[in-house]
Amino acid sequence: MLAGWVARRRDHGGITFIDLRDASGIVQVVADPEVLPDVADLRMEYCISVTGQVRPRPEGTVNPDLPTGTVEVAASAIVVLSPADGLPFMIDDRVDAEERIRLEYRYLDLRRPRMAANLRARSAATAAIRRTLDDMGFLEIETPTLIRSTPEGARDVLVPSRLRTGSFYALPQSPQLFKQLLMISGVERYFQIARCYRDEDFRADRQLEFTQLDLEGAFWEEEGVQTTIEATIAAVVKQVRGIDLAVPFRRITWREAMDRYGVDKPDLRFGMEIIDVSEVFAGTEFRGFSGALEDGGVVRGINTGQRQFPRSVADALTEEAKALGAGGLVWMVAEADGVLRSPVAKFLSEGEIEAIKVGLAVNEGDVVLLVAGPWRTTVTVLGALRLQLGKPAGHKELAFCWVTDFPIFEETEGGMTFAHHPFTSPQDVATMRDRPLEALARAYDVVVNGIELGSGSIRIHDPAIQSQVFDMLGISPEQQEARFGWFLRALRYGTPPHGGFAFGIDRLVMVLQEEANIREVIPFPKTQTGLDPLTGAPNEVDPVQLAELGIRVIPSAKPQPPNVDAEA
Ligand code: ASP
Repeated sequence: MLAGWVARRRDHGGITFIDLRDASGIVQVVADPEVLPDVADLRMEYCISVTGQVRPRPEGTVNPDLPTGTVEVAASAIVVLSPADGLPFMIDDRVDAEERIRLEYRYLDLRRPRMAANLRARSAATAAIRRTLDDMGFLEIETPTLIRSTPEGARDVLVPSRLRTGSFYALPQSPQLFKQLLMISGVERYFQIARCYRDEDFRADRQLEFTQLDLEGAFWEEEGVQTTIEATIAAVVKQVRGIDLAVPFRRITWREAMDRYGVDKPDLRFGMEIIDVSEVFAGTEFRGFSGALEDGGVVRGINTGQRQFPRSVADALTEEAKALGAGGLVWMVAEADGVLRSPVAKFLSEGEIEAIKVGLAVNEGDVVLLVAGPWRTTVTVLGALRLQLGKPAGHKELAFCWVTDFPIFEETEGGMTFAHHPFTSPQDVATMRDRPLEALARAYDVVVNGIELGSGSIRIHDPAIQSQVFDMLGISPEQQEARFGWFLRALRYGTPPHGGFAFGIDRLVMVLQEEANIREVIPFPKTQTGLDPLTGAPNEVDPVQLAELGIRVIPSAKPQPPNVDAEA
């Protein structure tokens, strides 16, 4: 006796064939309408039970693509447990339904084999994480989700308090400060599969709420955190993809990543590295380059390999480089006779052209792109072009790496902000004080295929240094006391040196399942504008509820995201 859903029904030669699907897969049921007249009424996605006999399929009808493809069930009784309305879309991986409809009927969408496989992969991933960390002596500890705000650089999601009207809890952007408190508590090894909330503008790989593996350890340094994370990720990859991941991952400093790939999350599945050719143009006549060099800038390039390079492509890339902040883009195509064809060729000496060919390993047919200007802009522009021209589709290959030695601060319009979070330890306190924008942090990220999977750091465990970092961020002593006094106080009670990490489980499963979007691996995600088309959240609430909370809504003058019905 089997039970499941009618995935497909065919009538063939007076016999009815039903593909019966349940959580474990699909099997073919054969029914004779003469014996079971009700089968004529069975529609797609009816929930049924079938009693019958398993028998080998007749010769020539074996389906090698199906694990149950050698057998079928000859039905002697079929009971409809629950009928189904007409479907909004076909429950089939080959059918592409509009995402809004898929989300509105997510419970049906999750019946599709691909989505069901994503749910299973997610569960396998968290099981592997728990097994690995449990074996290493970690404690799984829940931290509160109604908290005082923890700064991770995003906007908080706020929850009003009823008993203390006018006051709000924040939902955690991460359990950061609680895990640090647990180190002070003597826990030594903590982890949590933690839901985090960041009110950021949505992108393909962001959601208002997401899940991360959060962990922390005392008395260890970078190496301790990193080997633990490598072991955990390797266990997940083994469980979900069956691959033995090579550890340790490659390590690359932030500076080197920027120099060679133009971004702090390099995609190492392909080369096309950025090459410095400033030396080549040290004495150039070409104003486009000499001006940049005189201003302390650089000239760098990438060899994009052999490709068709019509004018339209050249123009589009130039526009893009300018939009990203470059003054311009110089392109060169290596012609058959050893000539480099380029709009600027006439301004370049023979020596310069030769040096470019050698420096960028130019072969016949190769297209070279050069940018001149300040270091940061130049590498960023070339990094973006490199990705656009070289990034492989999908995630068959997995290129994990650590990016280390990040700057501790970043420049903002009005001053400086933290690059990771304000609890990250500087590598050297004196440099941080004297030349803050050059100072490096004990911070590290894990990157896979150009996607930032997670970040971590060794923390500040000395309250004086913690205060100093707050000072440098422009937080006055009074504000420090008001916002973080409780935490600074905790640091004064024998805090062990500690550090940790967090990585996005949604993102990792997305990569392992070769999905292009994290919404495909989140059971009930929100749309790009933060809506849930299934339940209609967020929604207006009863005025009585608002009155209890002491809240009055000021109608917004700014355009609202369309409601669920209207959203495209
Ligand atoms: N709290 C950090 C984050 O959520 C991770 C960490 O530093 O452990 O990104």
